[in-house]
Amino acid sequence: MDIHQPAADPHAEIREEVRKLCARFPGEYWRELDARRGYPTEFVNALTESGYLAALIPEEFGGAGLPLAGAAAILEEIQASGCNGAACHAQMYIMGTILRHGSPAQKAQYLPAIAEGKLRLQAFGVTEPTSGTDTTALRTTARREGDKYIINGQKIWTSRAEHSDLMLLLARTTPRDQVAKKTEGLSTFIVDMRTAKGLTIRPIRTMMNHNSCEVFFDNMEVPAENLLGVEGKGFRYILDGMNAERLLIAAECIGDAKWFIAKASAYAKERVLFGRPIGQNQGVQFPIAKAYAQMRAAEAIVEKGLAKFAAGQNCGEEANMGKMLAAEASWAAGEACVNTHGGFGFAEEYDIERKFRETRLYQVAPISTNLILSYIGEHVLGMPRSY
Ligand SMILES: Cc1cc2nc3c(=O)[nH]c(=O)nc-3n(C[C@H](O)[C@H](O)[C@H](O)COP(=O)(O)OP(=O)(O)OC[C@H]3O[C@@H](n4cnc5c(N)ncnc54)[C@H](O)[C@@H]3O)c2cc1C
Repeated sequence: MDIHQPAADPHAEIREEVRKLCARFPGEYWRELDARRGYPTEFVNALTESGYLAALIPEEFGGAGLPLAGAAAILEEIQASGCNGAACHAQMYIMGTILRHGSPAQKAQYLPAIAEGKLRLQAFGVTEPTSGTDTTALRTTARREGDKYIINGQKIWTSRAEHSDLMLLLARTTPRDQVAKKTEGLSTFIVDMRTAKGLTIRPIRTMMNHNSCEVFFDNMEVPAENLLGVEGKGFRYILDGMNAERLLIAAECIGDAKWFIAKASAYAKERVLFGRPIGQNQGVQFPIAKAYAQMRAAEAIVEKGLAKFAAGQNCGEEANMGKMLAAEASWAAGEACVNTHGGFGFAEEYDIERKFRETRLYQVAPISTNLILSYIGEHVLGMPRSY
């Protein structure tokens, strides 16, 4: 039985092609980048040339026009192959904001160039050091002056900022005390980071190779035509993209879980101690089996979420639960994989410790487990809002 592929998979062909592409980027490639915190330019170029990063861009703009489930299959396979899609996954979900809320001129300007690989839209500037999860308390301001906006403030954890041409930025255009609801008065902008003046990017060294940065705006000018949609409605536009983002990140976690489970079960069968394979011991076998069950349960919820998304239904419940369960499943699988390998689980050449560090992120970002539980408590179960 192939644990990598769900039954009756409409994206089987894409999965196969992605696996072939990923085979060109083995563990040594990722290990070397991990050690020097390098960006996987060749891998991202290969994905771009194959059209995978334009999977969700409609065909009329030069993309593949796949449903969200197609993009999820691509990201899952990348992770299940031992690669790391974090270097470029954001393009898939950020692009949706331009598609849904951009003007015809913005779509024509950006989407074909992104689909062709001439432009990278990889940076998403939402989180700030002081406001964190409390997004509407963010302090970055955008002040309109004639035909431009002047941006001042700071973002943190803006991943891939050094390797992106464009950034989708959320900033406050009306002070919080002058709006009826704190979710109003925030606006989204497309920032061309290649030409922006007053923009400083500082990389942050993190537990894993994620190319995250602090970004500072000092009177940075953005042409007014780069405002997305209506001024003051930007928070809504960001929220609109969150279900897609959560489902895609969940797919990546499922891919990670599959990689750990395949690696752990193979080693458990082959490593012989005390005259028998270690996998014959229930203490070794059961954690792997349990992680497998957790992964399959998460996968089922994510599939349901993807189907609802495709049908235009509200998939908030499945997107949130799927992301949380998938992140927990990949972590459980990582734990089982490290334990199964004993000391070798810590050796860099096995890639387990690298994947273990990489997959840990998804219980915190792009949304923490606590905030997902708050969503379920409030929006699904109708309990009082906790924040
Ligand atoms: C490697 C990395 C890459 C990232 N990439 C990006 C990116 O590209 N763009 C971007 O905008 N952001 C990015 N982020 C930011 C990420 O989305 C945030 O780190 C995450 O949302 C948590 O916010 P915070 O770090 O500010 O934690 P805080 O908001 O300070 O929260 C700290 C802890 O308190 C908990 N908490 C807070 N409020 C409540 C509450 N009301 N109830 C219960 N628990 C609560 C949280 O769950 C968390 O565990 C990235 C983060 C990391 C680490």
